[in-house]
Amino acid sequence: MLHPIIADPSVTKHILRRFKLRAVKNFGQNFLIDPQIVRKIVDTAEISPEDDVLEIGAGIGSLTQGLLEAGARVTAVEIDKKLPAVLKETLAGYENFRLIVGDVLQLNLSELMPRPFKVVANLPYYITTQILLELLNRELQATKIVTMVQREVAERMTAVPNSKIYGALSVAVQFRADARKIFDVPPESFLPPPEVTSSVVVCDVQKPPFTVDEDFYFKIVRTAFVQRRKTILNSLASFGREKILTSGVNPSLRAENLSLADFAQLANVLK
Ligand code: SAM
Repeated sequence: MLHPIIADPSVTKHILRRFKLRAVKNFGQNFLIDPQIVRKIVDTAEISPEDDVLEIGAGIGSLTQGLLEAGARVTAVEIDKKLPAVLKETLAGYENFRLIVGDVLQLNLSELMPRPFKVVANLPYYITTQILLELLNRELQATKIVTMVQREVAERMTAVPNSKIYGALSVAVQFRADARKIFDVPPESFLPPPEVTSSVVVCDVQKPPFTVDEDFYFKIVRTAFVQRRKTILNSLASFGREKILTSGVNPSLRAENLSLADFAQLANVLK
């Protein structure tokens, strides 16, 4: 069956007209209208017929189609109840596609994806961070996470210590993954165009680089970054000033100066 390319701008506009659809701002709907970007995302995720893929936010199927054309088995989650009827038509004839209608943050993803899988998504920007943190959950079997996010979020995900944008999100992402920004995507590649430039980030999920009590580790990280201008001796004082002084980490540094390993050292001493 020969399918029109959904991400082709004229095809997208035709679909929206035919179904009398308007992008819903509250759902963060910015549909991809650039087939080249769809191809680049699929290539970045190194999709092959062996892959199980979770897509978050199928929209009208622009990216889903690229994944299916590459032969993957795709489970797509979509919150907008108007879209299943559209997807039934735009993706008719593709095998290995299943659609789950619902809020991704309410689903049990480890039940939904019981085998190792990749995530590929043009994320709704209003809940990007929550979704990323959910995807990096240690219970999940995600091996590679390729997401379109706002460029500013991409920069925070991949930031290194001693920069203003290095924060709790950087640590959370890098604790569990090797994260790299791959390319930027201009607003014109979407309908409607978002107000900001976007970026595609790949996260290769890997084992945490050290042994720590993870819940406690992230408690320390969050506490230190809430007052990021304070030295850790002050921002973490409630965990015990004496212990901080003997931790081996310079107590006059601030959260933004600490590497993931420094946080691990602190967590292991303060616990
Ligand atoms: N993948 C499509 C594309 O690239 O054209 C659509 C991307 S659009 C940026 C984000 C999609 O996520 C929308 O279709 C929106 O309805 C859906 N969405 C928003 N919030 C969601 C949620 N909590 N759970 C599942 N899908 C959601």
